[in-house]
Amino acid sequence: MVISRTILFKGAETEISVALIQHELAHIDQINRHGAVKFYLIYFCDYVSNLWRLRDHNAAYRHIRFEREARELAASACNEVAASHKTVTQKTFIQASLPKRVRPTDPSK
Ligand SMILES: [Zn+2]
Repeated sequence: MVISRTILFKGAETEISVALIQHELAHIDQINRHGAVKFYLIYFCDYVSNLWRLRDHNAAYRHIRFEREARELAASACNEVAASHKTVTQKTFIQASLPKRVRPTDPSK
């Protein structure tokens, strides 16, 4: 949960995922873009409008425009982290499996 520009988590530390942190950071970015008052006003109006239309708390919450955007940004950020981790892992593996004489030399040495 984000209150102004402070992120609050409940539960154990092990339950805090990178995706959750990215999601909450996206909300802070939204607050920075719109200002806190406008952010919470749009957030609340979206929720009430969605609740009226969908008649379901969870669906109304999921369809708030800031929630949708935060989920998309968090998923995108996590995919980038996963892709960069995969690249580093593959490069390291290839480097380690080359015979010593064909390993690229480090120009700084
Ligand atoms: Zn959220």
